[in-house]
Formats: sequence, C-alpha cells, structure tokens
Amino acid sequence: MAAQTEDHRRSFMVGGAEMPARPLPPALYLVATPIGNLGDVTLRALETLAAADVLACEDTRVTRVLLSRYGIRQKPVAYHEHNAAEAGPKLVAALAEGRSVALVSDAGTPLVSDPGFRLVEAARQADIAVVPIPGPSAALAALTASGLPSDAFFFAGFLPVKAGQRASRLGELKAVPGTLIFYESPRRLADALAAMAEALGDRPAAVCRELTKTFEEFRTGTLAELAQHYAQAGAPKGEVVVCVAPPGAGESTDAADVDRLLLSLAAEMGASKAAAEAARLTGGRKPDLYRRLLELKGDG
Ligand code: SAM
Repeated sequence: MAAQTEDHRRSFMVGGAEMPARPLPPALYLVATPIGNLGDVTLRALETLAAADVLACEDTRVTRVLLSRYGIRQKPVAYHEHNAAEAGPKLVAALAEGRSVALVSDAGTPLVSDPGFRLVEAARQADIAVVPIPGPSAALAALTASGLPSDAFFFAGFLPVKAGQRASRLGELKAVPGTLIFYESPRRLADALAAMAEALGDRPAAVCRELTKTFEEFRTGTLAELAQHYAQAGAPKGEVVVCVAPPGAGESTDAADVDRLLLSLAAEMGASKAAAEAARLTGGRKPDLYRRLLELKGDG
C-alpha cells in the first residue's frame, strides 16, 4: 500500500497561505468533499487529506482536482466498488499496522450512495477507530433548500431501475412519515416522477439540480406536474435529487392507488405473487387483492 514518504511535507494551501497538517492518530477517516463547488470543503477535511498516511478514493483523477486546488501532495490509491474485495483488505492491513487512512468518494460524503460501508464494517470488526469528517452531501443540501418539511426525513438513495421493483420499493416507502429524498439519474427522472406520483399519490415535491454549481436550480410542483414538465422538456443536464413531501400532503390513498399497484406488480410477476406483494405493501388481505386483480384483468 503506497503511503506518504518521510520527506513528504504535510501541508495544504488556503488563500495563498501554507497550513501545516498535524500528524493524525491511526484511524479510518471518512472525509466529505465538495459536491460541485470546490470552496465547500472544511479545514479539517483538508488537514486530514494532507496528513493521512494513505488516501483512498473512488477515482484518483477526480480527487486529484481537489488535491491540486489546495496544494496537497498525496498519491491517492483507488478504492471503488469494482476493486473493493482486493483493495479493502489492504487498507485494513495498513490500518492494523497503525497507519491513518482517509477515504473519500468522488463527491459528497463517502458511504452515502457511495462505497465504504464494507470497509467501515471491517475496520470496526478489527477494533480500528473510525472517524467521520463531516461536510457536504447532496441529500441534505437538497432537503434544506427544497421548502419541504425537514423535521423528519428518509434518505431512499437510488430507486431500482426496473418498473416493477421500483413500484414495490415506492409502495414500501409510501407510509414513511417524513420527506423522502431520492437520488436519480436525469435520464430516468420523468419516468421516476410519474412512478412516484402513481405509487405515493400526487404529493408536493422538488427537483434539486446541480447543487452548489453554476446552474443550480430548484423546480417545485406536484409529482405529476414535475413528471409532465420533464416528459416535455426532456432529461435535464447535470445531477439531480428529488425530495417528496410526507404523506398527507395532497396525495389520495383510495382504492385506485391499490388497483394501480396491483397492475404494475402484475406486469412483472404472476397474479398470485403480485397479490402477495400488494398485501405485504398495503396491509390488505391477499385473497381480496387476488380477486381484485383478476377483476381488473377481466378474468374474475
Ligand atoms: N456521496 C454523495 C453525497 O453525499 O451526496 C452522493 C453520491 S451518488 C453516487 C451521486 C448522486 O448524488 C447523483 O446521481 C445525484 O443524484 C446526487 N448528487 C451529487 N451531487 C449533486 C449535485 N451537485 N446536485 C444534485 N445532485 C447531486
């Protein structure tokens, strides 16, 4: 595992001034980095990046941009979902030898829809200290500026790509008593918003795009309005977060929702399995739902 050499001067530059980076106690440091605006980095994050014996990152090219902006001389090593099985044990071994390891992802907070969970789990199992260095995350930036309730929220990450699995997942999330936060690909945004409107009801929502960047944008409306907008306007450029208001904020929870759920599940699986899944998601009785599905399909 590559590490800093003895002659490596541990420092970083802020506003033209060179700041010394003090030695770090051995631990795994989870360092949050900017989600677009390179100014959004904490002094503690910079000091940790400069001082760590080993700096592990998803994509060394991406992280070098940040390092170079702040004059940090480091040789980052790769740790990403494709090499985690091989790179993870090497990082744990470096930690076990008493070295400090900093982990960053391409942007935002590591482990938040990004690699790192297995490494933290392994470090904890080996009794190695794990230290968060908090900072930006697109989820919280979106939530706080969305205008939706922020007292309780649920981070749902990326939805499944397949329509049936997406409908099931949304069915599970329907009763969550807080604002829902999703990461979504711009290409799938219009479809995902339409699926949310169908499964959750037509709740108020916000599409938060290009956070902290030049073309930052917040578009608010109901899920159906937003779905229609993006179906017409096409996939937006850049990165997006979708925030959806909690239940009770405008959605209908009538039998039509259950019918739609049954039909979308039946498109992906047999009638009996669809009825069982709908029963699990809605709390209804499987025999009733099975009968209703047959009626809807004209077989009942
Ligand atoms: N770990 C990151 C974090 O803490 O936010 C998230 C990484 S995840 C692989 C990438 C997703 O985060 C994007 O697809 C998008 O949904 C969201 N995202 C990241 N940066 C963003 C930004 N500047 N504006 C809007 N969404 C962003």
